[in-house]
Amino acid sequence: MFSKILIANRGEIAVRVIRACRELGIETVAVYSEIDEEAVHTQLADCAICIGPARAKDSYLNMKNIISATVLSGAEAIHPGFGFLSENAKFAEMCRECSIEFIGPTPETIGSMGNKSKARELMIAVGIPVIPGSEGAVYDSAEALEAAKVIGFPVMVKASAGGGGRGIRIVREEEEFVHIFETAKAEANGAFGDDTMYIEKFIENPRHIEFQILGDKFGNVIYLGDRDCSIQRRNQKVLEEAPSPIMTKELRKEMGEMAVHAAKAVHYENAGTIEFLLDHDSKFYFMEMNTRIQVEHPITEMITGVDLVKEQLRIAAGEKLSVTQEDIKITGHAIECRINAENTAEGFRPCPGKIEMLVVPGGPGVRIDSAVYQNYVIPPNYDSMIAKVITYGKTREDAMSTMKRALAEFVVKGIHTNIDFQLSILNNKAFTQGKYNTGFIAIEFNL
Ligand code: ADP
Ligand code: ADP
Ligand code: MG
Repeated sequence: MFSKILIANRGEIAVRVIRACRELGIETVAVYSEIDEEAVHTQLADCAICIGPARAKDSYLNMKNIISATVLSGAEAIHPGFGFLSENAKFAEMCRECSIEFIGPTPETIGSMGNKSKARELMIAVGIPVIPGSEGAVYDSAEALEAAKVIGFPVMVKASAGGGGRGIRIVREEEEFVHIFETAKAEANGAFGDDTMYIEKFIENPRHIEFQILGDKFGNVIYLGDRDCSIQRRNQKVLEEAPSPIMTKELRKEMGEMAVHAAKAVHYENAGTIEFLLDHDSKFYFMEMNTRIQVEHPITEMITGVDLVKEQLRIAAGEKLSVTQEDIKITGHAIECRINAENTAEGFRPCPGKIEMLVVPGGPGVRIDSAVYQNYVIPPNYDSMIAKVITYGKTREDAMSTMKRALAEFVVKGIHTNIDFQLSILNNKAFTQGKYNTGFIAIEFNL
């Protein structure tokens, strides 16, 4: 096992990794931007190194500075968390060149799965069902329109480099295609520096069902059940639960084995997620693979008892998976609510600032993954997620009532949050009955 690792991230995920390291007896090195001197991850790690100004491009995305900090501190490996450099093949390659272990898949795997249109082609080649769509990438609007006409409207225009729900647009009519295509292309260029696009058939009101997988360096790959992430606003996840309320044993086995097959096809090692869309006829389609730990990983930890971050560390250190497929038993139910600093009344506008008062929920069945404290000033430079409330119960009803109780206890003063919005989801009849799809928030809340 490693004796010291560097965490190239901030916020709750950096804290999550530090926690796993502490329990495994691994020393931790945090990196921080100038504005994050007072951040929890900076304070909590065994040592912390400043890697540049607040702007992510100059700090958390500054590969040279992060590599230098790693060499300087004597860390043997880098955990990239999620977002930032976690799906950057060039960064994983730089680590390899400097003999630093990147805690994630190989640069080759990131390269082939990180590009969403390339990943589609790869999956088609190994017999995984994908959403009907353009064969590969499309480069100009005329070519794209031809592809869209073949697929049939409505279609989804998507950025190959996309993530976090950005660079995605629905086109319902042929007449509006060129305009929307160009808008999405420009957004992708701005957000990812890459305007390669592809087209998919728009699946009406599907469920977003994803499978957590783990693979080691010896070719062993397992799946750790499903998560339902259909509660989304503008294609971004808001609340997740595991297992999906509509999942059956048979479908879980079929989709899980498909996810393992997809992962094996790209020699996947470390933790990853295969995202599927499931339509009304229970037909499922591969959507994308996230080649990193995910925001919603705790709900899988709760129902399987597997510590995914510790597994990531063990795999990267060259150990075999500590569990087999037969060991994975799904017990109980877990829900995660993402708590964001945002003003729901003003279009969910991010709302950074000083937390004047903070009372965090606790008690039986509640887990909080967070990196804020009373008097902490949330910087405006990064993601608006400030905490994750995760609840666990024997049944879905138990997990829901614990979540309602926990959210009602949660006090954050000084900034706006989406806590009340999350509560209104928990109180919604369709949600409590488990009858929802990716259109839920748009339909039920008119958003
Ligand atoms: P998850 O499936 O883990 O919820 P998300 O898509 O919500 O993943 O992304 C997790 C985090 O990573 C978010 O903070 C999101 O903004 C960021 N992120 C995801 N993909 C990208 C990308 N391609 N470029 C920059 N940030 C990204
Ligand atoms: P990202 O990389 O931003 O996570 P995804 O490709 O995973 O992008 O899509 C994000 C969300 O957008 C999905 O969870 C789903 O709700 C919606 N979506 C994406 N593709 C389609 C599609 N072809 N039909 C219907 N909804 C889609
Ligand atoms: Mg996705």
